[in-house]
Amino acid sequence: MPPGLADSFAVLPGLFWLLLPIAAASGWWLARHAAQQEEAQEDRQSNYVKGLNYLLADQPDQALEILTQLTDAHREAVDSQLVLGRLFRRRGETDRAIYVHHKLLNRPDLSDAQRQRALLELGEDYTCAGLLDRAEELFQQLLDSPVQHEYETAEYHVTALHKLIAVYEQGKDWQQAIAHCDRLEQMTGQVYRTQAAQYCCELAQTAYTHQQPDSALHYLNEALRRNAHCTRANLLRARLATDQGDDHTALQALYAIEWQNPLLLHEALAALTECHARLGTSHALLDWLQGAYERYGLSWLASHLAQQLAREHGSTAALNFISKVLHDQPSFMGLRTWLELHSREQPTTDDITPLLLRSSRQLLDASARYRCNQCGFTSKVLHWQCPSCKRWETLYPLSDLTCRTPP
Ligand SMILES: [Zn+2]
Repeated sequence: MPPGLADSFAVLPGLFWLLLPIAAASGWWLARHAAQQEEAQEDRQSNYVKGLNYLLADQPDQALEILTQLTDAHREAVDSQLVLGRLFRRRGETDRAIYVHHKLLNRPDLSDAQRQRALLELGEDYTCAGLLDRAEELFQQLLDSPVQHEYETAEYHVTALHKLIAVYEQGKDWQQAIAHCDRLEQMTGQVYRTQAAQYCCELAQTAYTHQQPDSALHYLNEALRRNAHCTRANLLRARLATDQGDDHTALQALYAIEWQNPLLLHEALAALTECHARLGTSHALLDWLQGAYERYGLSWLASHLAQQLAREHGSTAALNFISKVLHDQPSFMGLRTWLELHSREQPTTDDITPLLLRSSRQLLDASARYRCNQCGFTSKVLHWQCPSCKRWETLYPLSDLTCRTPP
């Protein structure tokens, strides 16, 4: 053994006795630290459960106090606070949601991603509270903030842009909404033609209401340039043409709806009937209705065809037609048409026909006429933007009476 090494071993027993208390102290400290951590974890879980219980017991103030303290002390609870703020917002308690997100943003130790999420949530709180200026400013700030990697689009930029467009929708700032739809298309490469065309229609509708037909037509053409399937644009174009006494142009716009979206022909039927009546070409409408019913088989088309048959060829022909339809495809709408035609054709003194007619009218008048194909929202009138899910052009006419969900 080399002499140096032998000397080292010689001093080991002394060193051992010196290190022994240090090792014992370290062990004690580690054990104590682990115990403290365990205790803190138990406290945290206990407070978390307590906060949730307060929420479930509908005591949001107490829940807020406990759950925000939890977040103050522990970084990993940031997600919990984000959920808490969202929960308050969904309950309509935007003041509390704003408080939670502000408190979160005051933390100096948030990561960039956590700060961006908190800012997006806060912007949404402002939107829900109707503080649109603040929401706009916040989302614009997020959009202007630099991305981490220049070669990729930051996800929060896209989210901020979507939310900013929702702010402009709520404020009915359609020009800004269109401009930011274009920006979204550039950013994502996806096309947002339906909603951009609807914004143009909103501008056209405003111009029409203010008796500015040229401006209205300009926006309608823009709507169709952006979305060739925009039925709303053609419905309004037809109304503009009718106002100017140009029924031929109105008919062109109305018939175009069949290739745009046949389900929305429902909205064109009254205008089609009026235009043809003024032009003295109702027989042409009858031919088209017969073809359309063969193509789509919709009960509201059958009812309209029966009414047109009655005008052109009398009630008997119409009754024969609607009776056959009812046999093949029973519907309340068909039944009401049959009762209307029957009472016109054979006025009776009995009580039952007027009673049935009145009942069927009341049932249909009380039932929803349109349903959103995205969220199931039902309505008696057509909304171009669903009031529930806020999507555009998702409400369609129902084919028949629907039972409304009891309150
Ligand atoms: Zn909806």
